[in-house]
Amino acid sequence: MLETTALNCSRSAQLFSEAQNFFPGGVNSPVRTFSGVKGEPKFIARGQGAKVFDADGNAYTDYVQSWGPLALGHAHPKVVDAICKAATLGTSFGAPTESETMLAALIQKHFPAMERMRFVSSGTESTMSAIRLARCSTKRDKLVKFAGCYHGHSDALLAKAGSGVLTLSIPGSAGVTEGAIKDTIVLEYNDADALKQVFETEGDTIAAVILEPIAGNMGFVRPSKDFLGTLQSVCQHHGALLVFDEIITGFRVALGGAQSLWGIKPDLVCLGKVIGGGLPLAAYGGRKDIMQQVAPLGPMYQAGTLSGNPVATAAGSSTVAALSEPGVFEHMCALTAKISKGLADAAKGCSIDMQVDYEGSMFGFFFMKQRNSAHGERRLDNLHAIQANMDSDAYARFFHSMMTKGHYFAPSAYEAAFISAAHTEEDVNNTLNAARDTMRALF
Ligand SMILES: *Cc1c(COP(=O)(O)O)cnc(C)c1O
Repeated sequence: MLETTALNCSRSAQLFSEAQNFFPGGVNSPVRTFSGVKGEPKFIARGQGAKVFDADGNAYTDYVQSWGPLALGHAHPKVVDAICKAATLGTSFGAPTESETMLAALIQKHFPAMERMRFVSSGTESTMSAIRLARCSTKRDKLVKFAGCYHGHSDALLAKAGSGVLTLSIPGSAGVTEGAIKDTIVLEYNDADALKQVFETEGDTIAAVILEPIAGNMGFVRPSKDFLGTLQSVCQHHGALLVFDEIITGFRVALGGAQSLWGIKPDLVCLGKVIGGGLPLAAYGGRKDIMQQVAPLGPMYQAGTLSGNPVATAAGSSTVAALSEPGVFEHMCALTAKISKGLADAAKGCSIDMQVDYEGSMFGFFFMKQRNSAHGERRLDNLHAIQANMDSDAYARFFHSMMTKGHYFAPSAYEAAFISAAHTEEDVNNTLNAARDTMRALF
């Protein structure tokens, strides 16, 4: 019903059908199926800069950027060169390399809270390890997380998670035992009162509070000042660790992540996505005294055959270095502001109720359901409000129309969008023209 009929997608359709003989649902990560927007995925053949090209040769301006990692765009020459050079020297040793130290130094310059860090291969490993470490360090079991925040797919963190868990309407996940989530307390994002209350009743059993300091996995949601203040004070007062999952926001909302914007120094930090430059790499780190409890110095065990992989660290270093060059991040910020304001104006011009927000090179927008009555301004700032007021069918119509016109947004209303250093003013102007046409025609 919502197929992008104007495009020839015969090769993608054929590849998708073949893939289903091998992979559950034909994919290796659930949201890739397009089930959130009722359609079939395009198989991507290649990417260059801000563009991706599908198996049928259709070109799209890409606002997904591999779901965040590709801050420089696809196949950036400096990154490709760094990967090739590293690969020529050998792809993995299971021994320390200078390349790891180089990337760590670049990261620490922007994230001084990471006094010590450990590289892992995925964001899931990063958050899972940070939580284990928080429990080891505080000798407490409980964990507070917020509905709609996604922290990877480890058992304890899947309760009311965002991203694909939301898109597919899965309440956590089957196969997760009661035991695995019995110590996970889930609160609504931005609910400072609930947070205070939980700490009043069980504060002395809570090891950590983990959150996305700007949420990017239930759309784009910003924390209130009040919420951030409460977060800091309850953690400090009750001796719980504050864990910022900046896997999506690190080197995105600012080079130094949301913590640099909010002026908060978390106890532990999780990074991923951009720091791997498109290769599998993530990190957790934080206060030196806490990190020294990680093996081999301390009792918390965590390891990885490919951790700190030399090809991945080379890709990460070249990405972070290029991003930090004068003008690069500023260019991304300017284009992100432009597209966000342009989308808001386009919606206003068509009397469409839309909430748009952005920070750094990351943005998001919610199509709102029609109002039944005038209740003043609605602000979608937690999962409950989003699920009650967001119009995901409107998003699906927008998505398919934009794809037909050559603009690739995430195949789910619950995701943020990204500008890369390779996007141009012209890309953004073209996308805004297409968005205006789409809104006029469809709404
Ligand atoms: C992507 C993401 C993760 C999970 O990272 P993977 O590398 O997919 O395991 C965790 N937390 C946040 C905030 C993310 O955006």
